[in-house]
Amino acid sequence: MKETKITGLGVSEGVRIGRAFVYRPIRVEDAEERRTDDPAGEALRLREAKERCLKDLEELVAHTAATLGEDKAVILKGQMSMLNDPSLYPPMEQLIESEGWSAETAVRRIVIQTAGLFESMASEYMRERASDVRDLGSRLLLHLRAREGARLSDIREEAILVADDLSPSDTVQLDKRRVLGIVTRIGGKTSHTAILAGSLGIPAVLGAGSGIDAIHSGDTLAVDGGTGDVVVHPDAGTMREYGDKMARQEEAKRRQEAFANREAVTVDGFRAEIGANIGTPQEAEGLIGIGAEGIGLYRTEFLFMSRSSMPDEDTQFRAYRSAAEAMQGRPVVIRTLDIGGDKELPYLDAEPEANPFLGYRAIRLCLGQQELLATQLRAILRASAYGNVKIMFPMISGLQEWRQAKAICEEAREALRRENVPHADKVEVGMMVEIPSAALQADRFAREVDFFSIGTNDLVQYTLAVDRMNERVADLYDYFHPAVLRLIKQVIDASNRHGKWTGMCGSMAGDPMAAPLLVGLGLHEWSMAAPSVPKIKEAISRLNAEACSALAERVLDMDTPQDVRRELKAFLAGIGGSLQS
Ligand code: PEP
Ligand code: MG
Repeated sequence: MKETKITGLGVSEGVRIGRAFVYRPIRVEDAEERRTDDPAGEALRLREAKERCLKDLEELVAHTAATLGEDKAVILKGQMSMLNDPSLYPPMEQLIESEGWSAETAVRRIVIQTAGLFESMASEYMRERASDVRDLGSRLLLHLRAREGARLSDIREEAILVADDLSPSDTVQLDKRRVLGIVTRIGGKTSHTAILAGSLGIPAVLGAGSGIDAIHSGDTLAVDGGTGDVVVHPDAGTMREYGDKMARQEEAKRRQEAFANREAVTVDGFRAEIGANIGTPQEAEGLIGIGAEGIGLYRTEFLFMSRSSMPDEDTQFRAYRSAAEAMQGRPVVIRTLDIGGDKELPYLDAEPEANPFLGYRAIRLCLGQQELLATQLRAILRASAYGNVKIMFPMISGLQEWRQAKAICEEAREALRRENVPHADKVEVGMMVEIPSAALQADRFAREVDFFSIGTNDLVQYTLAVDRMNERVADLYDYFHPAVLRLIKQVIDASNRHGKWTGMCGSMAGDPMAAPLLVGLGLHEWSMAAPSVPKIKEAISRLNAEACSALAERVLDMDTPQDVRRELKAFLAGIGGSLQS
């Protein structure tokens, strides 16, 4: 096979060589509606699909129990009993035999109807079953069409996952031990898939476009999640080259790990706090071991997105408490729901919008549905009794929004006090700065907030008018743009003047090339994808803060992002720093 190379956006560093697993999910809604002249034949097809499905599930249960644990296997066992339940399979047969519909149509209709029924139930546990029914429906359709690669759980061996896109629930389920790398057709540098791949430490190339059509399951791939290169059928020379890159990265990783459990202090004594971003409470486990001094951003929307109905207060409370406890008294900044943009909630009937990133998202939606925000705030405040919890509001564009959100928080706190529900006496409340208007008014906000956290992922998109998801304008998306840097400086200066602290939780914080600049600007806290923590600690420990201040001053006066990058590279070369991951 001839070697071919495709290029996308490198969004999560690391080099891997492995076999492709091409993932093509089937959604029940996509199944065709068709009549049949041969009901008996269709009923037989459905019966055979059911048998294959049961056999498949049986194997999968055994495999899952052995590799991922009994609790994950229980879900699959539940699907097996559903398939044998009189309320599911017999009605499908009936649609075929008495009404003359095809097997696919019967699966589609009964699954949608049953899932709808579950979704309307009062019990959260029952509502959650809706996704199991849908999952089972896709399995049946898969067997009816005899198509491979429709399920992520079919990845039984180490593989590089190739897909059009991955939904948040897909990404949350990924088994880090088996997924060596990710390659997708669409997706930008800071899409949810990029964020999750980064926090799981899985090398990823997104936005590879139609290039991925050339990849088939089983093909050998060499992937570089830093440069965005994907080589299909690599020849001997490429295999050697990628093998060498892997060896160099392993070496750098070992070197950086030595910094994991040290403080990030520059040679002249500037102390930086280094935390990690998480999307699920499970990610909090093990963070202390890799040197994270806190959680600078807990993206709670993943808790909402990976289910088929709204999590109630207790469910949320358990998740937040678990993250707080895992960090044993270190700070845990919990961000309220940031839904909208590229993050949809299927059960929250959102109207389609022409510009979702400029639309009804994050705090706007929460202020429009205050019950939702109040419930989440109660859950977070209750978790504050179990650790050092802080609250952060996303996408604040003006003081009015901040004051409204803060007032709802105060009401929730007051209600807990009245009800005698345990919560910490003092919980810091801060905001993300990710909209230029908030950065420009940072001096006003600084009087009222406890802290800022700069979200460069959005701040760059809104300052430069560059869609963070669109690979065609990815060249313009650059946090080293002097306009973005000026905004960052304004925020840090304003917080310093008011005795508040500023963190950064956008991807810029995890870039070692940005470290000297951020030290020079006097950033207090960095929060990043967990695997980057040792790397940034190492980068900061090599710096001299005074030299960094002079560097920041020079850079802020530059014309273009290219000038800034050149200056930063020269600075790092001058101190013998390495940019290698
Ligand atoms: C950001 O915008 O930088 C940020 C951290 O938030 P998110 O990536 O979740 O939008
Ligand atoms: Mg954001």
